[in-house]
Amino acid sequence: MKPFDVYALYDVTPVRAKGCRIWDDTDTEYLDLYGGHAVISVGHAHPHYVESVTEQLKKIAFYSNSVHNPLQEELAQKLGRLSGYDEWSLFLVNSGAEANENALKLASFHIGKSRVVAFEKSFHGRTSGAVAVTNNPRIQAPFNRGHQVTFCPLNNLDAVEAEIRKGDVAAVIIEGIQGCGGINLPTTEFMQGLQKVCNTSGVALVLDEVQSGCGRTGRFFAHQWYGITPDLITIAKGIGNGFPVGGMLISPKFEARKGMLGTTFGGNHLAMAAAIAVVDIISETKLMDNAQKVGEHLIGQLKQLTTNVPTTPLQLKDVRGKGLMIGLEFSDSIAQLRKDILFEDKIFTGVAGTNMIRLLPPLTLTQDEADWFLEKFGKRLAVRG
Ligand code: PLP
Repeated sequence: MKPFDVYALYDVTPVRAKGCRIWDDTDTEYLDLYGGHAVISVGHAHPHYVESVTEQLKKIAFYSNSVHNPLQEELAQKLGRLSGYDEWSLFLVNSGAEANENALKLASFHIGKSRVVAFEKSFHGRTSGAVAVTNNPRIQAPFNRGHQVTFCPLNNLDAVEAEIRKGDVAAVIIEGIQGCGGINLPTTEFMQGLQKVCNTSGVALVLDEVQSGCGRTGRFFAHQWYGITPDLITIAKGIGNGFPVGGMLISPKFEARKGMLGTTFGGNHLAMAAAIAVVDIISETKLMDNAQKVGEHLIGQLKQLTTNVPTTPLQLKDVRGKGLMIGLEFSDSIAQLRKDILFEDKIFTGVAGTNMIRLLPPLTLTQDEADWFLEKFGKRLAVRG
């Protein structure tokens, strides 16, 4: 048997990592500005994280959700305190798609309706409901297209209001900052209007913070920059720092019923040890401040490159983002540029679409590491000119 061939792979094999550094099987060192797709939050192989997971593994790795697991309560309490949602509840799953799937299901149970409003360029995962609210028909099979979903343009409140007025909408789902769709930020005015419309019409506002959450933007959740309170918040990626953990934060307005939601692996002991370690590290260190500070520095410096290198055929047109969630939009395909950055400059980066490089580094990225990247990147753009 062999792996099902669905991933376009770069010819590099990481074998160990520490902080923001990765080493491959030839012992070549790389700077990680991708975090394995925004997953590595507190840094690779953080000592407290390694110790927590290791110690838990020696005690008990897993038991089902039919018995008490105090680690779930510990995580809920600590996460509630860190995120500012003390009075809410937590339902645990294993991935971002699953978190969104459950959020839409809970909203639909609660409201008794089925249509969902999502946004153009959204990405919410690949399970049936999550992919149905993802604005990309190429990854939707006919089986996924049975859901009732309407896509509105981002930041167009009139369009959302018109849909909600039809009376059949259970939920609106939106990313804190659109990630895979190209680092698109909703405006504060739009988000505040959206919350108001959802509140007055009884529609659940679901904030997908799978990529933008866990401190990446400098606040625990990106939506906290807009001063809004949604009804459901989904998390994954950074909360496990590499261990598969997903979850949904649930406002007190939703009532639990036995058997309403469930999962075999969600909230298991090992996953909880990983997530508690992440929350402890973020709470006890200045990682969110660091994400904001180093992110502002990077964005400021990168913006200068949009004007400083105007002659290069592959032009850096725009730099946008918040904290350590940054998109670099080019005038043309970045495929070769990204390869050069990886194989020649030894830096891992991400991508969004064909023309955007995405930076999603661990929140531990230092200013020196950021400057090292800036130097290499500036030279690389100049070379390509
Ligand atoms: N939501 C957002 C905003 C994402 O960026 C992703 C993954 O990239 C997902 C959901 C899906 O998460 P997972 O791949 O863990 O299912």
